[in-house]
Amino acid sequence: MPAGEELARRLAAEVPDPELPFLTLGDLGILRRVEVSLAGTVRVVLTPTYSGCPAISHMADQVRRTLMDAGFPAVQVDTELSPAWSTDRLGPGARAKLEAMDIAPPPPPAAAAIALTLKCPNCGSLHTRELSHFGSTACKSLWRCLECGEPFEHFKALR
Ligand SMILES: [Zn+2]
Repeated sequence: MPAGEELARRLAAEVPDPELPFLTLGDLGILRRVEVSLAGTVRVVLTPTYSGCPAISHMADQVRRTLMDAGFPAVQVDTELSPAWSTDRLGPGARAKLEAMDIAPPPPPAAAAIALTLKCPNCGSLHTRELSHFGSTACKSLWRCLECGEPFEHFKALR
């Protein structure tokens, strides 16, 4: 492994997601690969959570700036849409952080295929309905609980 690859991977993994700043690109599994060439050029490959996610160019800028500030002479950030990001890439830490922020996390991989409804993060009811496919950002959808009336945001994922 070329010198610095471990450091470059760690720094890139710690970059916060611009829309969910309490999660890092590492938590979300958005960071796919980090390679450092013998000349010291870092190539970072990102897979956005959602192919239309406008935040990806902002993430790429953040990764580039972080690595260049750490002394890497050149940084190239590429995105790879295939194979697509899926909820399988979320770490257990990411799920706990999403729940703690009252954003309904995507169901665990095994449950994703059968989940037709989302659990209300406020009262736990499954009697919920999608109000809008786009919430405060294009990466989230807006739901409302029919039991307690609380609106909540769902972190949208490809299924
Ligand atoms: Zn509720």
